[in-house]
Amino acid sequence: MKIGFIGLGNMGLPMAENLQKAGYEVTGFDINKNINTVIKISNSFENFLIDNDVLFTMLPSGKEVSAVYKEIVEKSISSRIMIDCSTIDIKSTHSIAELAKKHRLQTLDAPVSGGVVGAKDGTLTFMVGGDQKAFEKVKPLFEIMGKKAIYCGKSGSGQAAKMCNNMILGISMIGVSEAFTLAEKIGLDFEKLFEVSSNSSGSCWALNTYSPAPGIGPKTPADNNYEPGFSSDLMLKDLSLAQNAAEQTNSHTPLGLHAMQIYEELMKEGGQGKDFSYVLPVFSKKSRN
Ligand code: NAD
Repeated sequence: MKIGFIGLGNMGLPMAENLQKAGYEVTGFDINKNINTVIKISNSFENFLIDNDVLFTMLPSGKEVSAVYKEIVEKSISSRIMIDCSTIDIKSTHSIAELAKKHRLQTLDAPVSGGVVGAKDGTLTFMVGGDQKAFEKVKPLFEIMGKKAIYCGKSGSGQAAKMCNNMILGISMIGVSEAFTLAEKIGLDFEKLFEVSSNSSGSCWALNTYSPAPGIGPKTPADNNYEPGFSSDLMLKDLSLAQNAAEQTNSHTPLGLHAMQIYEELMKEGGQGKDFSYVLPVFSKKSRN
C-alpha cells in the first residue's frame, strides 16, 4: 500500500514519518519546500497524485482541505481512500465527501487528539467518520500513528466528536484555572488543591495530566513558560467550530460560548502562541470586576 501525505506541519510530519518507520512507502507534499525529513518529498502535486493508494491530509482548516480536494478530483484520480485528519468544520467535511463521492473516491474524516507529542510518539486518538468498510481497511494505519481509533458513524461524525471533546476540554481547563485562582486568593496551597481534587470529584484530564499551575502534578506546558502543547489559537479555533455548529443546530451551549469568548479575550492578553493553559496566569492577574 502506497501512502501520500499532504500537509507536513507540526502534526502531519511526525505522523507521516511514523508510517514510513513502520515499513510503508510514504511520499509527502507541502507548499512549504523547506521540510527536513527522511520521507520522500514530491515537488509536483500532479506526480504526487499518480500512484498513492491512500491519501492523508493534515492541513490548517476547511479552506485548505477543500482547495486540495478540489484539485485532486479535478485531476480525476479514482479508486483510493482519502483520509482527512485535520480539524475542520462539518460543512466542509460534508462537501468534500460529496465531491469525492461523485468521482468514486472514498473519504474518511479522522481528526485526532493527543497533540504534537502524541503525533511523535504514535499515541494519538483518532475519531473517524465515513464508510465503516473503508475505516476497517485503513485501521492498521491509524494503529501505527495512534493508540486508539474509534469509528464514530457517518461522514462528519469524526469532526463532530472532535469538537464536542474539545468543548469539554476548553471548559474544563477554564474551570480548573478558576479553582487555582480562587485557591491562591483564599490561601489554599496549590499542592493540596491538586492532591485533593485529582483524587476527588473535581478530577479531570485538565487537572490530573495537564495542570495549568507550574510545578503541580506531572510536567506540563506550564512548567515550560506555557510554550504549547496545544496552543490557545487552536483551542479558540475548535471552540469557534463548536459554536458555529451550535448556532446552525440551535443548540444550547452557554459554557461553550463563554469559553470561546474567554479564549478570544486571551488572544488580546498575551495568549497568542501560548499553550491553552495560559488561562491560569491571565486569570490570576485579574480582579473580580
Ligand atoms: P501546521 O500549521 O503546523 O501544519 C500545516 C501544514 O500544512 C503546513 O506545513 C503548511 O505549509 C501545510 N499546508 C497549508 N496549505 C497547504 C496546501 N494547500 N497544500 C499542501 N500543504 C499545505 O498545523 P498542525 O499543528 O500540524 O495542525 C494541522 C491540523 O491538525 C489542524 O487542523 C489542527 O487544528 C489539527 N490539530 C493540531 C494539533 C496540535 O497540537 N498542533 C492537535 C490536534 C489537531
